Amino acid sequence: MKTSRPIRARINPAAFRRNYLLAKRLAPGTKAWAVVKANAYGHGLWRMAEAVREVADGFAVLEVETAAALREAGYQQPILMLEGFFSPRDLAMIEALHITTAVHCQEQLDAVLKHGKPLPGGVYLKMNTGMNRLGFTAKDFSVALAALQQVPGLSITLMNHFAEADGERGIGEQLDRFKAMSGNWTGPVSLANSAAVLRHPTAHGAWIRPGIMLYGASPFADQTAEALNLEPVMSLESRIIAVQDVPAGERVGYGGTFTAEGPTRIGIVACGYADGYPRSAPNGTPLAVHGQRTGLVGRVSMDMLACDLTHIPEAGIGSPVTLWGKGPAGEVSADEVATAAGTISYELFCAVAPRVPVEVVADGGF
Ligand SMILES: *Cc1c(COP(=O)(O)O)cnc(C)c1O
Repeated sequence: MKTSRPIRARINPAAFRRNYLLAKRLAPGTKAWAVVKANAYGHGLWRMAEAVREVADGFAVLEVETAAALREAGYQQPILMLEGFFSPRDLAMIEALHITTAVHCQEQLDAVLKHGKPLPGGVYLKMNTGMNRLGFTAKDFSVALAALQQVPGLSITLMNHFAEADGERGIGEQLDRFKAMSGNWTGPVSLANSAAVLRHPTAHGAWIRPGIMLYGASPFADQTAEALNLEPVMSLESRIIAVQDVPAGERVGYGGTFTAEGPTRIGIVACGYADGYPRSAPNGTPLAVHGQRTGLVGRVSMDMLACDLTHIPEAGIGSPVTLWGKGPAGEVSADEVATAAGTISYELFCAVAPRVPVEVVADGGF
């Protein structure tokens, strides 16, 4: 619903397309799943899918219903269900619509074997090399692989997911285990999330699985999206709806967690945790107002938050505010906001609330 309340999520599909093409350039010779699970990380599945319709090698999703909806809309690329099916009943649809399904546990394996008919989309056999979330460990993997190899005409890709591709420990241990488990496997493998695409070129495999980088955020704590040449796709925008001139010693907001040290000009922004802005964001969390950066003041309320306008005298009621992204009020990366709030950009994007109207922006128009 369009509202006259000024908050907006502005989405630039062209930036998503460029980020996807960058991921492809970073992994030459591989194909790239555009990971569009979770409503395309909160950006809107259809907007993002449409943006890469002509260039995407495939789409990675969670639900069979999402896969089916993409087929229904005429997408002919491979579609991967990252966690496989949640009910064996889904196999009929997976077969009919040429969907590729992960197989991560014995129950899924049994269902595929029992299904009997070949699955034209093939399977991704998921290996647990140390993430300890989904997949077959060394103990059960070769039996699982051998069983799938008995299904005539079934194409198999080995799949691994890195737990620390963005961190100091990196991928070494998991990659060693992957190699030990896969032995003399010469078929396709799919290993890399965004962090591995960007930092671990030895682990690109045949199909990369970039997610967060497509949305213009960095998977790393120590490298910005800008330094990685990624463009923000979403900006969260609003406006100042009230201004308070408070004398020294006054507190601001619930719990009085901010006390003015001197005379302070406070701007009230139409954005709160019910819009998806993190309530955990502390004093000083960056935002931009009227072309200048400033900091959050006091606790985030349900529908409002406060910021310091003392050094931005030209800002007043109606001034544009960029909570994150690149907008008319300035630029603040979602990663900076996420770090300040003790979370990651993924969570900020996914948390943008349904009540926030979305505006699709033309390329170049922020
Ligand atoms: C979400 C997901 C990805 C994408 O991860 P990013 O860190 O966003 O790049 C890749 N692989 C699997 C299995 C996933 O679930």
